[in-house]
This record gives sequence, structure tokens and C-alpha cells, in this order.
Amino acid sequence: MKQSRTKLVDQHGRHIHKLRLALLDACNFRCIYCMPDDPKFMHKKNLLSSQELISLATHLVDLGIDEIRLTGGEPTLRSDLLEIIRGLDKLNLSKLGLTTNGQHMAKLLPELKNTTCKHLNFSLDSLNKVGFQKMTGSPHLEKVLESIFMAKELGFNVKINAVLMKGFNDKEIEDFIDFSGRYDIEVRFLELMRIGEARESFEKKFVSADEIIERLKKFSSITPISLPIDSTSFNFTLSNGANIGIIASESKPFCTGCSRLRLSADAILRPCLMMNEGYSLRGKDRNEISDLLHKTMSLKPIERIYDVSQPMNQIGG
Ligand code: SAM
Ligand code: SF4
Repeated sequence: MKQSRTKLVDQHGRHIHKLRLALLDACNFRCIYCMPDDPKFMHKKNLLSSQELISLATHLVDLGIDEIRLTGGEPTLRSDLLEIIRGLDKLNLSKLGLTTNGQHMAKLLPELKNTTCKHLNFSLDSLNKVGFQKMTGSPHLEKVLESIFMAKELGFNVKINAVLMKGFNDKEIEDFIDFSGRYDIEVRFLELMRIGEARESFEKKFVSADEIIERLKKFSSITPISLPIDSTSFNFTLSNGANIGIIASESKPFCTGCSRLRLSADAILRPCLMMNEGYSLRGKDRNEISDLLHKTMSLKPIERIYDVSQPMNQIGG
């Protein structure tokens, strides 16, 4: 049975209980909206070790965090990923998930099945090889699809994230609707965000939630699905059974309901994806972590910050 825990509430009344835990900033993909042209990754010695990650997560869970999502960079590039997940497995979490580009997931899934990490978000920006390579720099669309289908088959809770960009994959909205209905997998369209690389030519490439909704309506009638207040997406079911979410970070920001904090791979606890500011938790004891956690919460903005220069892979998306 789960024990009751401390409830973290910020000065705006938001219940802060979710943590995005970045395991590294490096990645095997080069998504055009995320990675700088010439990325400089953290030196390995600066990354939190598996023991440090588990210990920090243990304190943060003890202090009120109850959901953790592993991210990066690409979390599957950590050779100790399963060790980290097994450590987090022992915590009193209501949800443990992972966000991945999927290339290396298939081989991890059988072991992952024996853990509580059941919520897998796959990034999949295009359903065709040429489009996929153009957006991600990777030729491995088939491996990603294989991982997605295998995860679904094994009973994981699978979602797909597709960042829409004009002139790249915006013609594929209907293909994704078809994919979602056909395979019974939730597809979430992400508005491009003004982060790092993506700020350049943002205006030309941006596809808004309203444009997406228009396209959904042309496909079929749409029925809203009710979701928790701090959900990042709003979702609809369509006549073919598709479950389509939209994450409208730019045009309909969800800051007033935000419940998240972020811990970077080098231990900086950040209040918001759009802020470079934060506090290092490295080497801190429980009391110090508690103090820094509350200081970080007090920095959480209530309104959307316009943009941020730091690339998404460093913040931990
Ligand atoms: N490598 C993993 C992946 O791609 O799923 C996890 C890290 S990635 C930074 C997390 C999410 O951030 C992905 O779904 C990615 O599409 C999204 N993302 C990155 N840069 C973005 C941007 N500028 N605008 C919107 N979403 C972005
Ligand atoms: Fe890598 Fe994910 Fe960024 Fe793509 S979005 S470059 S897969 S970290």
C-alpha cells in the first residue's frame, strides 16, 4: 500500500508533483528543432551517476514528487539505464515513464517489462523514411516503428510525440490520424517551441493548434476527451477511433496548471523548461535538497516565458 506523502504546493496554488529527470544531454539523433549543428555534450564525469540519480530521486520523492519521467538527450544511450530504472522502481511513485527516440528500445523492452516503468513516449516525427531522415537526421525509422509496435504488444502504455513543422511533416497529419486509429496508439502533435535551435525561422515553420484542429475537423467529427488539469495535451477521439492530442505550448500555454520540475543530467533542478536558472543538488543532503526544492518552486513562472536560448537536449525535454 502507498504511504501518504507531503504535498508540494507553490505560491500560486499549483500542486508540484512531477519530475523530468534528464539522464544525459547526448543523443544519436539530430532533430532539426532540438539539436544545435555542432552540439557540445557534457563530459561524462559531469553526469550524475546511477547512485547519485537514485539518491536524489529518493529525496525528491520523499519530499513530494510522485511521478518521474526519464528523458534527455536520449536516455537509452545510458548503459546503466536499467539499473537506474530498477533503483527508481523501489520508490513510492504513482507513475514512472520514459521519453525516447525509440531506436534502441526494442532490445530493452523485455527487461523493462519487469519494472514499473510502463509509460513510454516515443518521438516519431514522420511516417516515411525520407521525411523521418530529414527531421531527425536518422535513417532508423524501421527500428523506431519496430520498438513502438513491440512496446504496444508487450502491454506498455505507449504514446507518440510528433513535432509539426511547416514544409516538413505538416502534410502528414492525416497519416498520423490513420496510424493512431489503425494501431490504437495515442498520437500527440507538439507545437514547435521557441527553444534553442528552433528559434531560428520559427515563424516560417510553426504550425498552430488551431490549424491542427481545423485539419482534424476536416477528417471527421472530433470529440474532446477529459484529462487531468495538469495534462500538457488536450485530446480528441476521431471517427476512425484515433486518439489525437495537441500540446500547444506556444499558442495555448498550460503554465497555470503546470506541476513539473526538471533535473538536468548535471544535477541542476529547474523550475521551468523555459528557464536557464536553477540550483545544483549535487552532493546535497536531505535538508539542503528540501530548501533548494522550495527555492526552485518559488521561481516557477505563472506565465509563459517567450523563449530560451538553451537547447532542449540540455534542459531535458
Ligand atoms: N530523445 C528523446 C526523444 O526525442 O523523445 C527525449 C528527449 S527530447 C528533448 C523530448 C521531447 O522534446 C521530444 O518529444 C521532442 O520532440 C521534443 N522537442 C525537442 N525540441 C523541441 C522543440 N523545439 N519544440 C517542441 N518540442 C521539442
Ligand atoms: Fe535527440 Fe530527442 Fe533531441 Fe531528437 S528530440 S535530437 S531524439 S534529444
